[in-house]
Parts: sequence; C-alpha cells; structure tokens
Amino acid sequence: MTHVLNLRPHHFLCILTYAGRGYSENFTRNFDDLAASIARGGCIARITRGPDDICRPRLENGSGHETGGAPSRPHHCHDERIQARDDAALADLRRFLSCPALDYGDEIRLTPELISALRTGFQRNQIRTACLGCEWKEFCNTLSRENFINCLIQMR
Ligand code: SF4
Repeated sequence: MTHVLNLRPHHFLCILTYAGRGYSENFTRNFDDLAASIARGGCIARITRGPDDICRPRLENGSGHETGGAPSRPHHCHDERIQARDDAALADLRRFLSCPALDYGDEIRLTPELISALRTGFQRNQIRTACLGCEWKEFCNTLSRENFINCLIQMR
C-alpha cells in the first residue's frame, strides 16, 4: 500500500542518516515507524512547507515543548531559520535531480534508487547546504563516512 509522507525539504537529508536517535522518545518512535515504512518501499514524499510528519510529535502537546523525553526542550519547527534550511535543501534537490520546477506540494516516490542516489550526493557534499549549522552535523558526517550502515533505512 502506498503511504504518502509529508516531508519538508531538509528532511530528505535527515531520512538518509536517521539512526534511531532524536529529540525525544515520542519523536524517535514516530520516526522509527516512518523509516520502516520508507524501507518497505512504496512510500511517496509530498514536499511540505513547514512542520511535517517527522516534526509532528514535537508539536503535539501545543505548549512549545515536547513530552516523552528528558529533558523537555523547545522545538524549532516553525522557526524562520528552519524554513531557510528547507529552501536551501529544495534548491539542492532541484539541482541534484535536474528538476528545476520541483516545488512545495510536489510528490516524489522514495525508491531504493532515489535513496541510494541521494546518499551518494550526501557523501559528495552535493546536497548538504541545509546541514550547515545543524547540531547533528558531526553525527551525520560519521554515519555518512560509514556508508550509512548504521542507519535505519536500508533498501537493497
Ligand atoms: S546534519 Fe542535520 S540537517 Fe543534515 S542530515 Fe543530519 S540531522 Fe539532517
């Protein structure tokens, strides 16, 4: 069955390196489910402006803080700097996929071939503008150097 996943542009990168770690237990439980769905194949990503299906647990209690993890931290999902990160990621995806018209609202099938190509682009630093300033960057660099073997999404 096809699963349509709302995915903000910089999360096209984060799904490549997701290794079961995140901001809270709720966050990782949700991301685990989404990663499993992508890994099974048949997943379509709808390019989303603003918070997406990965962000959702961080927004659910409506207080500006998430629950289920320790310590509770403010989320940044609506911040302008995160939207700027999305715009940069979308620009990279347009270039990398040779698809200049690619835009918010468009849908892309997350095939094994696409995930593999994006990981190659990630390792070659061709799609990583959005990673600049990200607190997870060193962790993601390590996972990339290890050829993503410790990442949850494995599609052969
Ligand atoms: S460095 Fe940050 S933005 Fe880049 S893939 Fe990792 S978590 Fe995502």
